[in-house]
Amino acid sequence: ALQERLHGTVLEINLNALRRNFTFYKSQLKPSTKVMIMVKAFAYGGGATEIAHHLQQLNADYLAVAYTDEGVSLRQEQINLPIMVLNPAPESFGNLVKYQLEPVVYSLSFFRQLGAYCHSNHTSLKIHLDLDTGMHRLGFGETDLEALREMITAYPSLKVASMYTHLAGADEADHEEYTKRQLSLFEAMCKTVKGFLGYSPLVHALNSAGIVRYPDFQMDMVRLGIGLYGVEVNGLHQEALQPVSVLKTTISQLKSLKKGETVGYGRKGVMASDGQIATIAIGYADGYDRRFSNGKGQVLIHGKKAAVIGNVCMDMTMIEVTGMDVHEGDEVIIYGEGLSLKEQATAIGTIPYELLTNISSRVKRVYF
Ligand code: PLP
Repeated sequence: ALQERLHGTVLEINLNALRRNFTFYKSQLKPSTKVMIMVKAFAYGGGATEIAHHLQQLNADYLAVAYTDEGVSLRQEQINLPIMVLNPAPESFGNLVKYQLEPVVYSLSFFRQLGAYCHSNHTSLKIHLDLDTGMHRLGFGETDLEALREMITAYPSLKVASMYTHLAGADEADHEEYTKRQLSLFEAMCKTVKGFLGYSPLVHALNSAGIVRYPDFQMDMVRLGIGLYGVEVNGLHQEALQPVSVLKTTISQLKSLKKGETVGYGRKGVMASDGQIATIAIGYADGYDRRFSNGKGQVLIHGKKAAVIGNVCMDMTMIEVTGMDVHEGDEVIIYGEGLSLKEQATAIGTIPYELLTNISSRVKRVYF
């Protein structure tokens, strides 16, 4: 890991911290509540395969990905845990069956399409029903339930492994009333669907923020994402979580410039006084957002903050380091280790999720 650290950009992933976060969330749950881990989007940027292997060792109960291909890659890497696929494309039905992936079914037309596929291929699939209680993204609404009953009867080869809903505002106290309404509607809808099924699939509703705010609604399973990766959810349990990833790079070159000289494309950076800049080996092609240009982004060098000067380039970014004791080859922290991901995200009007999932595939992931 040290070798890697000395050259260019790396994302360091601390699997020990991941384990501790996992253990922390488990300690918040009833012993009977299962944990599904969201490893979609390359496990929030951390690398799905490595993280899934680790979770398999930790006895996580379920994994979830967004697309079938993400699940296929995990299966090809010997991940045997059950895997839920949130948004599978109809072209991928064959792979769902072949790799024993469990699709989410969120609409009547999708139910019919998948049911017909399984019927004509003489096969069956475990499915998960997404019930829309107020997120208004995907899912069956209350008025779809009668038609859902017909689907369930018409396509017995689709076995309902679970039913879930997704909370629209679990992270904010302001939305507590709305969230509680979602949760009670979910319970009512589950009761109705269980009546149609004649058996009881798992039911689950809580994401990371929900686990903390709504402990009475753990139900059979929770779906843990951002918290596992050690990112605070509006300050909730911040002190109990350990940051999992640190994005780092190095200084490629230092330059002394005079007051008024300009830096980078479009000459958008202007030296306010005589001083020094450092060019670091990370750019927007690595996922370092171009909105960090011109002072919006900050980095940490030897524990001190320094600001971006000029526009972020594709592979490089310039930082103002006037008066700092820095050298070429020095390590620069982009996110993590004292530089809050939340703070950087807020500076450009986004959320930690987007910064993490945007770290591009060319950035080497180093696990320790
Ligand atoms: N459940 C569903 C359906 C999701 O889409 C997500 C993430 O977007 C999660 C759970 C996990 O959310 P979080 O990362 O906030 O814990």
